[in-house]
Amino acid sequence: MIKYYNKLMLEFSKILMTAFNEQDFVEKLNTLFKEFIGINNINFFVLDYNTGMFRDFVRDWIYIENKEQQKAAFDIFNTFEKNTDNFILNGKEFSLTSEETKIEEIEKNGSFDVNYMYLPLYSPDRVFGFIEVQYQNINQEIVIDKEFFHFIQILIVNISNSINNQIIKKHMAEGLNFYDAMKNIAKIIENQYELEYIIPQIGEMIDRFISSHLIYIFLKEDEKYKLIWPSNCNNTEIINMIENNEQDDTIKISKDNRIGIFPIKGEGDKLGVLVAYSTIGKLSTADIEYLVELTKQSGITIQRANVYSEVLKHATMDALTGLNNRRQFEIRLRQETSQSIRKNTDLCCIMLDIDFFKKVNDTYGHAAGDCVLKGVAEIITKTIREYDIACRYGGEEFFILLPMTKISEAYAVAQRLRANIESTKIDIRDAKVKGIPYLQVTGSIGVNEFHHEQTPEDFYQCADKALYSSKINGRNRVTLYSEELENKTDKE
Ligand code: GH3
Ligand code: MG
Ligand code: MG
Repeated sequence: MIKYYNKLMLEFSKILMTAFNEQDFVEKLNTLFKEFIGINNINFFVLDYNTGMFRDFVRDWIYIENKEQQKAAFDIFNTFEKNTDNFILNGKEFSLTSEETKIEEIEKNGSFDVNYMYLPLYSPDRVFGFIEVQYQNINQEIVIDKEFFHFIQILIVNISNSINNQIIKKHMAEGLNFYDAMKNIAKIIENQYELEYIIPQIGEMIDRFISSHLIYIFLKEDEKYKLIWPSNCNNTEIINMIENNEQDDTIKISKDNRIGIFPIKGEGDKLGVLVAYSTIGKLSTADIEYLVELTKQSGITIQRANVYSEVLKHATMDALTGLNNRRQFEIRLRQETSQSIRKNTDLCCIMLDIDFFKKVNDTYGHAAGDCVLKGVAEIITKTIREYDIACRYGGEEFFILLPMTKISEAYAVAQRLRANIESTKIDIRDAKVKGIPYLQVTGSIGVNEFHHEQTPEDFYQCADKALYSSKINGRNRVTLYSEELENKTDKE
């Protein structure tokens, strides 16, 4: 018999060593148990020390929802906490080591239609769960004797070790996800500063990380808390808790541990609150610790976004392309037109709109669209002279002021620009679109010359009319503004 167990132990060891995830591990274990001992089903219950609830190790680490089951699990668990040398067979405790274990009694106890056996899972410092084994008929070769007990004991130590390692791995992965979530929240403001874009992203990120609880974000507006994410919250308990704690800026956890209110702070001011509502009974200590850190990070991000948007009000540069922004465009337009009048110099302008740009966004995503905008801005900068003034006028519209330039020259610049855009492979690798490293687009252009009797608004609106004409005449072309266009656009 010893040989048989040795072989069995070897097989089990192999499984424990080679399983690549817990699913694989349990499947292989199942097959072995079935083959050698006649076991039909095996379950692993692991106590989560943070929530004090049992989780199913095999089924995606879910909590055992049923209260009765949780209680029954505790009864079994408590037995093993007293003695890890015990096992339970059909409700009766037996010792794996005691000389007095009566084999006949075990055999009698094991002769039910379906037998339930429980074995402890433990690490050197604690019991962390147990295995539930169901079997119908024990393999004839197996005799319940001292060697069998010995084998089971070694097996338990090995399986416990393996499972403990996998649990540690799970916790480590959770830790990594946490750092990812923290990093992502910090990164949101690389591209945008408006809270209406930022808050939903923060909400989604935290929600994804703490998936077993609902997340809400409220911001303070005129001393009142307004729900920003998600779009509604009809949980009156949450609303009441927030209203009762409006002035308070400490963390509040409801008595039943179901609701947590975390103040979002930026440089001392309370900006709002993040609320976590547990859908699985209660927030664990670990969840609370994570939420405290995530809320802190969110506060920093929101605060910085507020500062940026304040700064941007005074900025002259478009953040995405590095060109002048629209605000600066208005200023430069006035400066250059009055200069042209004062010094009696030529002034022209070019207006450019990327063709079918919506399609780029829709097909390759917004990030790819942003890369194209940057790419076109680069082409513009390379094509024009140093003292020309390029602006990002709107989404995918650009405006260029060409001081001291005759209309014929401006037209030539516009044609060069159109050709350069058409022929450039714009690098969109930053957008990480699989298999698409670059895109090619075209642009439609309108060109206009400044007449001293015109208003600055007329000056650029005429360029816009010429641009419109390029669009309706098939795009990827340059149109010079002329009186005739007025009649045309009027007719349409
Ligand atoms: P048309 O040839 O007639 O100009 O077609 P179009 O699709 O280029 O024109 P439309 O004006 O309908 O689309 C412009 C699109 O530009 C819509 C908007 O989503 C997108 N857009 C505006 N600003 C940005 C931005 O900052 N980034 C990105 N990726 N897209 C933007
Ligand atoms: Mg447009
Ligand atoms: Mg367009």
